[in-house]
Amino acid sequence: MLNGLKKIGVMTSGGDAPGMNAAVRAVVRACSYYEITPCAIYSGYQGLIDGKIEEMGPRSVANILSQGGTVLKSARCMEFRTEEGRRKAYEQFMAAGLGALIVIGGDGSFTGARLFQKEFGIPVVGIPGTIDNDIFGTDFTIGYDTALNTVVDAVDKIRDTASSHDRLFFIEVMGRDAGFIALNSGIATGVEQILIPEINKPVEQLIDRIRQSGRAGKGSSMIMVAEGDKSGSNIYQLADKVQEQLPEYDIKVTVLGHIQRGGRPSCSDRVLASRLGVAAVKSLKDGISGVMVGVRKGEVALTPLEEAIKQHNEIDPLLLEVAEITSI
Ligand code: ADP
Repeated sequence: MLNGLKKIGVMTSGGDAPGMNAAVRAVVRACSYYEITPCAIYSGYQGLIDGKIEEMGPRSVANILSQGGTVLKSARCMEFRTEEGRRKAYEQFMAAGLGALIVIGGDGSFTGARLFQKEFGIPVVGIPGTIDNDIFGTDFTIGYDTALNTVVDAVDKIRDTASSHDRLFFIEVMGRDAGFIALNSGIATGVEQILIPEINKPVEQLIDRIRQSGRAGKGSSMIMVAEGDKSGSNIYQLADKVQEQLPEYDIKVTVLGHIQRGGRPSCSDRVLASRLGVAAVKSLKDGISGVMVGVRKGEVALTPLEEAIKQHNEIDPLLLEVAEITSI
C-alpha cells in the first residue's frame, strides 16, 4: 500500500447528524477498495481511549446508507481534552495498528483531531458532519440538508394551525452560533421574521414588524428564532416580551428540538457524505492529512484543519434581503 498505510480508523464525534452513516459506509468501502483495512472506533474519542476499535469490511456497513444517527455512536469526551487522555488514546491507536484517523464531526471534534496529529504525528482527516452548516471550508455539512427538510416539514404543519386561529407562532430551531438553519428554512416556509445570532434585532423592531404585518392584512404570523439568538434570554422570554406589547395576539411557542437531528438522510446528504468519505480516504492514501474534506462550488476541496476551526462562514446578505422582500 502507498505510504505503508495499512489501517485507517474512523469515528463519529460530537453532535450526531443524519448522513454520518453514509459517510462511515463510504470510508469503509473506499478503504477496502484501496486495500486498506478500515477500523471502526466506537463512541468517538471516548471509544478510542477505551480501545473500542473493531476491524470492518465492506459488508459490515451494509444497509446503513439510509439510516439516521450513527451506528458508530457518538460521544462527548472530556478526557480527550487533556494531554493525558490523548496519550491514552494514542496508546490504543498504536496497539490497534492504526496508521491514520478519519473524524466525522464538527468544530470541537476537529480541534481534538488537530491536537492529536500535532502531538503524536498521527495523520488525521476531518469530514464535516453537523446539522448547523457552520464549518468553514465547505458549502454544506453532512446533515444540514436533512435538518432543513425536517424543519420545513414541521413548520408547514404549524402554518396550517397558525392560520386557522390567527395565531402568532415563535418557532425555535437549532443553531447556537449560526443562523443558517433559521434563515434558509425561514425563507422556505415564508415566515414573517427570522432572528439569528449573527444579527442583533431589537425586540421593538420585531414588534413594529409584527404590527406592520397585521396592518398589511396578515392574520397569523410566524417568527423563526435560532437557538442562539440574543433578542431575549430565551424564546419563552422573548414571546412574553412581545405578548406584553401585543396583548391582542394569541402567542404560541414551539421548540422543534431534537427532531431536527433525526430521520433518514436526504438524497443530497447521502451523496455529499459518500463523496466526502471517499475523498477522505483518497487524501490519506495520497499522503495528505491535517485537512478537512469539503465541497466548495460543487468541487471537493481540502481545507487545513486549523483554518476550518478558526474561520467562520458568513451569512449571505443577499439571503437576508430575500427574506425581507418576500415576507412583506
Ligand atoms: P462537535 O464536534 O460537534 O463540535 P464537541 O464540541 O462536543 O462537538 O466536540 C466533540 C469532542 O471533541 C469533545 O467531546 C472532545 O472530546 C473533543 N474536543 C473538543 N474540543 C476539544 C479541545 N479543545 N481539545 C481536545 N479535544 C476536544
